[in-house]
Amino acid sequence: MDRRFKLEILSVTSENGGHKTFEMKNVFDVSPGQFFMITDYENGEKPFSVSRITPDRIFFTVKEVGSFTTKLFEMSAGDSVYVRGPYGNGFNCELLAGKRLLFLGGGCGTGPLRSLAEFLPAETEITFINGARSKDDLLFKDGLAVPLSDFCCATDDGSAGTVGNVVDVCKNSVDLNSYDYIVTSGPEPMLCAVRDYISSFSVPAFYLIERYMKCAVGICGQCSVDPVGVRVCVEGPVFTGEMLNRLSEFGVYKRDASGTKHYFKGASGT
Ligand SMILES: Cc1cc2nc3c(=O)[nH]c(=O)nc-3n(C[C@H](O)[C@H](O)[C@H](O)COP(=O)(O)OP(=O)(O)OC[C@H]3O[C@@H](n4cnc5c(N)ncnc54)[C@H](O)[C@@H]3O)c2cc1C
Repeated sequence: MDRRFKLEILSVTSENGGHKTFEMKNVFDVSPGQFFMITDYENGEKPFSVSRITPDRIFFTVKEVGSFTTKLFEMSAGDSVYVRGPYGNGFNCELLAGKRLLFLGGGCGTGPLRSLAEFLPAETEITFINGARSKDDLLFKDGLAVPLSDFCCATDDGSAGTVGNVVDVCKNSVDLNSYDYIVTSGPEPMLCAVRDYISSFSVPAFYLIERYMKCAVGICGQCSVDPVGVRVCVEGPVFTGEMLNRLSEFGVYKRDASGTKHYFKGASGT
């Protein structure tokens, strides 16, 4: 197993939507889309994407969902965690640099898109559509630290930005053909809707997906996706649209720590 670094939490910022951003020293060579395994040695070890990278700092933007994140949320500046990584393929920054990009984000998935937007050179043209259920769930609702060609928010209930989800915004006001690439990260049902909508366009897309992880180094097979067996921790978490189309599990179910399948709402369990 890779070395774990003991890192002090330098700051904790409360974000919209019940998220918190944790700032730590950057002692790594990390790129956007990669993730780290974080543990306190008491409440498990869980994967988190970097939501911002600077030469001397890394940031993680986290949603409280279970036992580990609850403990993390109790921590404050001065406390320490143990971090190993970075893991995964990350986004192909060389390919995306200087291109016309459409970013479609939702929930915590907006974090890795932010790190990518801030990492790419200034001449890259990025339209960022940021979706959430309501205005209280919108992460980074005031935009990012870098200038974007366009930034807009969409909420299911219309309490902020456009009414509807990111796909509705695309349907109503975005000419997909004017982009070189689509980059998307968010809840799997959202990613599925994006895939279904953009399938009739010829714009290549990259998707960041999540699966339950244990080793994060490709040995345990916990995060393998049926039927191809790609490991999200090594071959992912960023996948091309072509690969996603080969993953019959995508959008249908995911496995928990015991390997039991959990079907997404509306997906068939047969
Ligand atoms: C590559 C990768 C990057 C991630 N980046 C982030 C991030 O930047 N910020 C963030 O808040 N979370 C991120 N996650 C998800 C995060 O790892 C889980 O939320 C974490 O496991 C929660 O731990 P817990 O002990 O608090 O909750 P648990 O008790 O482990 O889980 C609580 C609930 O969340 C569900 N869950 C756990 N893991 C996942 C998962 N991978 N996908 C979908 N549902 C899950 C469980 O099924 C359960 O219902 C990422 C996951 C992966 C695989």
